[in-house]
Amino acid sequence: MSENPRVVLLGAPGAGKGTQGRRLADAFDVDHVATGDIFRANADMETEYGTPQEYMERGELVPDEVVNEIVREYLSDLDGWILDGYPRNLAQAEYLADLGGVDVVVHLDVAREELIDRLTGRRECSECGETYHVDFNPPAEAGVCDDCGGDLVQRDDDAPETVETRLEEYHEQTEPVVHFYRDDAPEVDFVAVDGEQSLDDVFADVRAAVERRVEDS
Ligand code: AMP
Repeated sequence: MSENPRVVLLGAPGAGKGTQGRRLADAFDVDHVATGDIFRANADMETEYGTPQEYMERGELVPDEVVNEIVREYLSDLDGWILDGYPRNLAQAEYLADLGGVDVVVHLDVAREELIDRLTGRRECSECGETYHVDFNPPAEAGVCDDCGGDLVQRDDDAPETVETRLEEYHEQTEPVVHFYRDDAPEVDFVAVDGEQSLDDVFADVRAAVERRVEDS
């Protein structure tokens, strides 16, 4: 492995992938590639399957052909990266292996009830993407991003009905990916992290997992 780690962050919606992914990317000075952020920024992009917006508002996965191509382009010039939100099914995991593989997979583990509380109270900065929670991690001033002063908004897909569908999609499509990396990918360092700890404690565990691999390389 080069010094720049290739890391996949797995976890259900609301597990903390975005927050931890940004911190990890800063700490290791690599790019944070979040497919959900890419689709939100390109929600109206026309594809032969329709727009990403149509899938996101139903809480369904965007078709593999669209996602895979985007990920291929984003990763093509990068040495190391933190992937957040990809792969989300086994076909995507196979595609990523064909692109050159992964060094570390971190699974952020959070119970379903906690995920629902987190998602429905989540607020996101419309400028920089930083996330907050109305109860668990509020900004200093309600509705305003601490980092950049942008407006905080609720994502459309954090509405309760859509949250149900997203958790169902995760269970059906993405849990097999967790099992695949855990049980059937010996070349990958798989680490399960208790995602219900404080943000700093989760980060310490995630960072240690990546550091171990960087030091061993
Ligand atoms: P996220 O912010 O990761 O929860 O993603 C938001 C939405 O973007 C998802 O509910 C999907 O509609 C879409 N999306 C993000 N990543 C993927 C992916 N790897 N495969 C398919 N759809 C995705």
